[in-house]
Amino acid sequence: MEYRFDFLVIGSGVAGLSFALKAARFGSVAVVTKKDKLETSTNYAQGGIASVLGPDDSFQLHVQDTLNAGDGLCHPDVVELVVRSGPERIRELLEIGVQFNRQSAEDGPLDLGREGGHSRNRIVHAQDMTGRALEQALIAAAEQNPNITLFENHFTMDLITQHGSIRAGSMALLQEATCWGVYVLDNNTQETHTFLAHVILLCTGGCGKVYVYTSNPDVATGDGLAMAYRSGAKLANLEFVQFHPTCLYHSRAKNFLISEAVRGEGGRLIDRRGQAFMEKYHPLKDLAFRDVVARAIDTEMKQSGDDCVFLDITHRDAEFIRQRFPNIYEKCLSLGIDIARDPIPVVPAAHYMCGGIVTDDWGRTSIANLYAIGECACTGLHGANRLASNSLLEAMVFAHQAVLHCTPHLEALRRLTLPDIPRWPANAASASNTSGEMVLIAHNWDVIRRLMWNYVGIVRTDKRLSLARTHVAQVRMEIKEHMPHIPINSDLLELQNLALVAELIIHCAIQRKESRGLHYNQDHPHRDDIHWRHDTHIQSLVEAS
Ligand SMILES: Cc1cc2nc3c(=O)[nH]c(=O)nc-3n(C[C@H](O)[C@H](O)[C@H](O)COP(=O)(O)OP(=O)(O)OC[C@H]3O[C@@H](n4cnc5c(N)ncnc54)[C@H](O)[C@@H]3O)c2cc1C
Repeated sequence: MEYRFDFLVIGSGVAGLSFALKAARFGSVAVVTKKDKLETSTNYAQGGIASVLGPDDSFQLHVQDTLNAGDGLCHPDVVELVVRSGPERIRELLEIGVQFNRQSAEDGPLDLGREGGHSRNRIVHAQDMTGRALEQALIAAAEQNPNITLFENHFTMDLITQHGSIRAGSMALLQEATCWGVYVLDNNTQETHTFLAHVILLCTGGCGKVYVYTSNPDVATGDGLAMAYRSGAKLANLEFVQFHPTCLYHSRAKNFLISEAVRGEGGRLIDRRGQAFMEKYHPLKDLAFRDVVARAIDTEMKQSGDDCVFLDITHRDAEFIRQRFPNIYEKCLSLGIDIARDPIPVVPAAHYMCGGIVTDDWGRTSIANLYAIGECACTGLHGANRLASNSLLEAMVFAHQAVLHCTPHLEALRRLTLPDIPRWPANAASASNTSGEMVLIAHNWDVIRRLMWNYVGIVRTDKRLSLARTHVAQVRMEIKEHMPHIPINSDLLELQNLALVAELIIHCAIQRKESRGLHYNQDHPHRDDIHWRHDTHIQSLVEAS
């Protein structure tokens, strides 16, 4: 089947929905999402959204904190843009009914939390379930909007792009590329569809699933990064993977995060013997940047051989803990941990991708008509490390920017004649003759995720990165050989994307011969501003059609 819309949004998280709601004033919008509409990282965000709203705060301070976190690689103009847009974006959320915590009465000032790296209280939050409040309000508004059609369980397989024919040797120059739409697998019927639009947005979120331990939900397989790369878009800074220091360590807890706000409210990291250890690593102790805390925990665990460390907030009043962290409190209690009395067992886990598809101030990628917003984008805001709670803000600001940029051109885009778009090629494999090979998918998922954790994790070395490159290349070869014989399905497509993203992360990590922000390589332990104070760009060369 072929669908046509003015705007096509891939992803139903904060980035996709923020754009959809604004764009719907100008034309028809399709929001395509590969699972349930709520299954997004946005929905699991706990801490909140950073914005300058307190009387003791200023744009300058938020800018400075963001630049400090980014360790020399933030783009200062982008940081200014995002920080200054913050209060307006928060006001819009209040207008669509997001219930943020307030200091006192219903219409009193917003309660502002504090997180690591922030010099002021500026985290707007809805208890410790900010993402859920945000996601539910955005979904409710989108569902009421007659111009927005939501396609759940629709997996986007690839972009439909046309490349210009200017050549450099045997390769095409990519500036001519244009995106016309996407191919989609309907997971309800297993049919493939073509979606065409004048403006296409990748809002596919992060890629935490490339690591075996992650705070991310299952949807975070880096599909947007892989699709954009295959189409020749520019990507950057994929070596900067943020590991959240404190994921709950429990055999029955899957991907459950213990928010940074717990440390913001006085929680201290201790070892099995009850000894606090962060003062050995940083003057800010438990409120040091995430990468410092994650590395400190990694070091403590390697030295002691323990499986985890502990986060202790038992010195705070039990009623305060239950009020401030109801979600964390209930989750831990359901596993037999009363956080008002017991320290919480925690380990670091892959949390956020600072790099992504390169975009400009309007969210535009290097491919015409294609925008990338949210965690899949690399805007220049985060540099080498993300300041806590800046990502939800970034997604909303760039959704706004993209609407400002594309809607004035909509009429002109509507007049363009679309080229002939071929259908998705049928896959010859049938389920009956290949079911035995489905084991390849499960096995290779596991291989990649463990390999990335062990060789491309919090602390890296040249040797491990080189070994990782060899192993991932083998896995990719195996997938390529077997793909035509396995019926197309979303597990296989995700595996293909995950393997490619793993390869790209390794490639970027090998390029950077220094340690900066989230990238720490024991063989190059120092920051080297002379050679490496720049983004790591990566782009495939696509043959002209
Ligand atoms: C546990 C947790 C806590 C966090 N806490 C905070 C916080 O307190 N503050 C903060 O600022 N940030 C936080 N973050 C980060 C933040 O939540 C994310 O960066 C942000 O929500 C990303 O939004 P997004 O719209 O880009 O992607 P997401 O919200 O992840 O949405 C991605 C969407 O794309 C869809 N998708 C992906 N691939 C395909 C495909 N092939 N076809 C169709 N659809 C596809 C998914 O199904 C999903 O709908 C947290 C993240 C996690 C995991």
